[in-house]
Amino acid sequence: MDTVAPLVVAGPCAAESRTQVLLTAQAIAALGLQAQGCRLVFRAGVWKPRTSPDSFQGIGDEGLQWLAEVRRLTGLETATEAATPEQVLKAAAAGIDHLWTGARTGASPILIQQIAEAVIQAQAQGGRLKSLLVKNPMHEDAALWAGNIRRMQQTGLPVIAVHRGCAHRPCWRMAWQLRRLLPGTPLLIDPSHMGGQRSLVQPLCLTAASLGYDGLMAEVHNNPAEALSDAQQQITPAELPPCIFSKQQPDDLAWLRRQIDEADDDIWNAVARRMDISREIGAWKRGRQMQVVQPERFRQVQERRLMWAASNGLSEDTVIAITEALHNESIRTQQPGDNRETTER
Ligand code: PEP
Ligand code: MN
Repeated sequence: MDTVAPLVVAGPCAAESRTQVLLTAQAIAALGLQAQGCRLVFRAGVWKPRTSPDSFQGIGDEGLQWLAEVRRLTGLETATEAATPEQVLKAAAAGIDHLWTGARTGASPILIQQIAEAVIQAQAQGGRLKSLLVKNPMHEDAALWAGNIRRMQQTGLPVIAVHRGCAHRPCWRMAWQLRRLLPGTPLLIDPSHMGGQRSLVQPLCLTAASLGYDGLMAEVHNNPAEALSDAQQQITPAELPPCIFSKQQPDDLAWLRRQIDEADDDIWNAVARRMDISREIGAWKRGRQMQVVQPERFRQVQERRLMWAASNGLSEDTVIAITEALHNESIRTQQPGDNRETTER
């Protein structure tokens, strides 16, 4: 199989202290990944767009100097997140090699456009930025992600897509759509934010390998337990090598099967959620001595779905079979015990 050495962007979620940044960078550099042909970039966020104002917001401008030191001491190229035009100019002035835009910034095309314009300005002022990485937006929106990438391409710099998933799920469908919209755009996986858990980092990298991803961006910390942000998803430098994969030929069947698995997850999670609601309804009915089975209500539910199915390409038989199966399970969950046999339909 045709394989190509991957791009590996690794480093802590956030630059926390000079010691933490240097220790982590030195440990990553010592793994010898470059000797294996990887293109290795050290990442650390200095300005952190956090959900809560009470959490660590990043060390700020001072962290840029630590990244510059990493470059001098280890020779590793560096990357940080820029969420405003001002941050682009500061990072470029500090000699950062690569910038990424985050999932939260990705929700705003106006901000992304301003960031792209700041990159153009920084390069005109002698900046040495080498590439731009664009994470997918927080929500599933392949078109917005593609639009953000195209805005960044206006800078003339190479632009790389980073798939970080939505709400700690991969969203393979979104990445598949992006490949359709912008074929040829290199695609990295960010298994750290995608899974939100250390134990998922390596399995997600294996999946990305089978799908032909071009590399990864992973959160690596010299002491994850003490990390000031995203502690639960950061791995140690020693845990990085098993996550590295060579680029393989993309396999469309593997992509489609991932999407089937994802659709099945959605379906079964929705079924479980529906049954949780049924249990609440069961308690409500019991409290009012109401009969579990309400034939008129079931008739309406099925009728509504049959009308919907007609315009969605599903056969009537399938709709009837599924609505009946759901209803039967619903009735079962509304009983205090499993006395389904005695239930009248
Ligand atoms: C990050 O990479 O640390 C980060 C904040 O990522 P995201 O924008 O994907 O949440
Ligand atoms: Mn993070």
